[in-house]
Amino acid sequence: MTARIIDGNALSAKLRGELAAKAAELTAQGTQPCLAVILVGGDPASAVYVRNKVAGCEKAGIKSLKFEYPQDAAPADVLARIAELNADPSVHGILVQLPLPKHFDEKAVLEAISVEKDVDGFHAENVGRLSQGQEAFVPCTPNGVMEMLKSIEAPLRGAEAVVIGRSNIVGKPMAMLLTAAGATVTVCHSGTRDLNFHTRRADILVAAIGKPKFVTGDMIRPGAIVIDVGINRLSSGPDAGKLCGDVDFESAKDVAGAITPVPGGVGPMTITMLLANTVESATRAARKA
Ligand code: NAD
Repeated sequence: MTARIIDGNALSAKLRGELAAKAAELTAQGTQPCLAVILVGGDPASAVYVRNKVAGCEKAGIKSLKFEYPQDAAPADVLARIAELNADPSVHGILVQLPLPKHFDEKAVLEAISVEKDVDGFHAENVGRLSQGQEAFVPCTPNGVMEMLKSIEAPLRGAEAVVIGRSNIVGKPMAMLLTAAGATVTVCHSGTRDLNFHTRRADILVAAIGKPKFVTGDMIRPGAIVIDVGINRLSSGPDAGKLCGDVDFESAKDVAGAITPVPGGVGPMTITMLLANTVESATRAARKA
């Protein structure tokens, strides 16, 4: 069997077209969606992510504001900027690019963002709302995965879903969303005994581990839907410098029923969902105005 490829670039292009139309409509009514992005320090990967987010905004007609701080920035300065952006009615989304330098209290920074502008969905109140099925901003990566599953009409109710990884930004919210969609969810992590036992019974397998080519074909149930969240840069071998996922695509594609590639899978969907949350926030603000 050769798996169906779930094309994140194509799905993103379609959704971003729809978002651009909504953004234009809101702008015509006097509310241009606006995302403020805060970047602290010179981490090159973070700089690339921020650049892609800003470019995604511009293409969709969403205004973006970028605030850059040096590695040794005072946390109080960043918190003061967040307070200013919280109070600015023309700003609908605030994003602080993670990770922050070690002298920052990451939790305090994320909680300083107004819940109404927390388009990354990392504020504890949004996480709580999501867990209770209330209206919330859903973290972008797992939200993008759900859109990908929807795009192939994946049967979720009653499906066995296995998520590898329990981080706050991917694994945990992913498990919540799949549970809400009616799947029976198992969350595996670094302490899981016999990981293969779990992965081999998954109808839907989500890998969010951060280890290149960790999930191999023999760990996958034939016909399963495999979602590869991982973004790793290979450090050695003939493909050194290239990006790869947490799934060994070559062996997995012959077993899975459908699979996301890296690059071109979940990655572009993450930014698309950030744009979607920003447009949603602007829509709510326009409704209130
Ligand atoms: P993380 O380091 O916070 O979490 C990794 C998880 O993997 C942990 O919960 C850990 O328990 C689990 N794990 C580690 N080793 C394991 C093992 N041997 N067996 C089972 N579980 C194991 O990482 P994260 O922030 O959740 O990111 C995971 C991956 O997804 C990374 O490659 C990251 O770059 C990528 N990512 C991609 C996007 C995107 O837009 N596509 C967004 C966020 C993260």
